Amino acid sequence: MSFCFLCEEKITAKNVSEEHIIPNGLHGRLKSSDLLCSECNSKLGEDIDAEFCEIFSCFTSPLNKKLASKDRGNNPSKAEGRVLLESGKELKVTFQENKIIPSKTCYEVINRDEVHIYFPKKSEGYKNHVKRILLEKNQINEGADIKCFAEIENPEQAGLFFSEGKPLFNSIFRKGLNKIAVDFAVHNEIDSNELPNALNKEEQKILSADNIFPFVPLGAFDFVIELSRFKIEYGYPSHTLILFTENFTDRQVLFCYIDLFSTFQYYVVLNDDYKGEEINNIYYQTLRKQTIPEIEIRGSSPKDLMIIANDLGVDHRNFGGKSYEEIYRRLENAQKQRKPNYTQGIASFLQSATQALFPIILLMKGNKTEQLGDHYQNIINVIPKLENEDFLSILQEFRRIDSEEISTFYKQNYIEYKEDKSFEFYSYPDKIKELESDDFSMFQQYGFLKFTQLSIFANSNSE
Ligand SMILES: [Zn+2]
Repeated sequence: MSFCFLCEEKITAKNVSEEHIIPNGLHGRLKSSDLLCSECNSKLGEDIDAEFCEIFSCFTSPLNKKLASKDRGNNPSKAEGRVLLESGKELKVTFQENKIIPSKTCYEVINRDEVHIYFPKKSEGYKNHVKRILLEKNQINEGADIKCFAEIENPEQAGLFFSEGKPLFNSIFRKGLNKIAVDFAVHNEIDSNELPNALNKEEQKILSADNIFPFVPLGAFDFVIELSRFKIEYGYPSHTLILFTENFTDRQVLFCYIDLFSTFQYYVVLNDDYKGEEINNIYYQTLRKQTIPEIEIRGSSPKDLMIIANDLGVDHRNFGGKSYEEIYRRLENAQKQRKPNYTQGIASFLQSATQALFPIILLMKGNKTEQLGDHYQNIINVIPKLENEDFLSILQEFRRIDSEEISTFYKQNYIEYKEDKSFEFYSYPDKIKELESDDFSMFQQYGFLKFTQLSIFANSNSE
């Protein structure tokens, strides 16, 4: 039996409802019917999810064609957003399909000889009008080049808004993250009274308090993974949630790490003085649309049928004495039941990333990367210069991915080698908190880089 974590109402057949732990609008797949009663579910959906998803729509919209479909509702074909122009002016835009189209007509003077005009529909009249005004104000030269754009061509400009703009960390954004963290904690059987930083039980409210801080990679391994994952992560982009406790000298803290679209990465402090048991739990979901290749079954040779059976997980030892028609039908049924798997687990991501990066790292260490092909060069280009200690710590991280339970350390601590070849573990939340106050530009730069990578992916033509 379960109770709504917000109003404490018993959940029955009458008020049961399915809650998306990561909102459906963000293509989240993890659901539970044991979290909220239907009334609270729709209340929180209206109060938080709708606006929270809206923040992301400026780039989920261009991504839509590449993402697996949502549970319900069509993908909107349009979304509103803003880009920052060269002059610092903000331009309202619409994201349609893979295009970024200005919503309103607007111009900017680049210099006395160059003017850019943005408009949704081409209009010679407006061009002449702008030229006349600017000449009258003596802002341009007579022969100035007036360039017209019906589309924003540089997707990196679109990225600028999201990371530079202030709306990023507004209260709705914090509420949205807190709601995901609370949902995930209760889903993992944490008592909802034990989440005071994110959930006010008395007032039945998700909070927008200052209990959230951004992730930034500090260990060499995370640096390499994070900057190359748009190239090496199978199913990129993905969502990750990690619920974990961490012991400090005098108390235990309960955290939820939230990573949306492999890009927006935050720690949510759920409880500064958590008395419950130690917990480590990861949810990982890829978002890129997967297509399952159709296999030609009928007419295949007996040998090929064995291989197909193997691929489909059908035991071919039962084929003895069966007619071909029966075997075909059995294999066709198995093929129909095959569904894309979007929740393969974080281990498969990290192990394949390790495999992809291992040869690169070794050759980088020996300064022999020219031996690698074009595909690898793309990855090498995004990896920062590594010191000797960095190589050692990366190899040590590879080792623990292979031998330890990933949920007990991933994004929780990192390994750092010293010059004397000794190494230490550092707590991520702890080190980031230390940094946060004195080097905010580091967070901005990292956030911008990640967003740019996602924008490039969203706007690229590859399916
Ligand atoms: Zn309720």
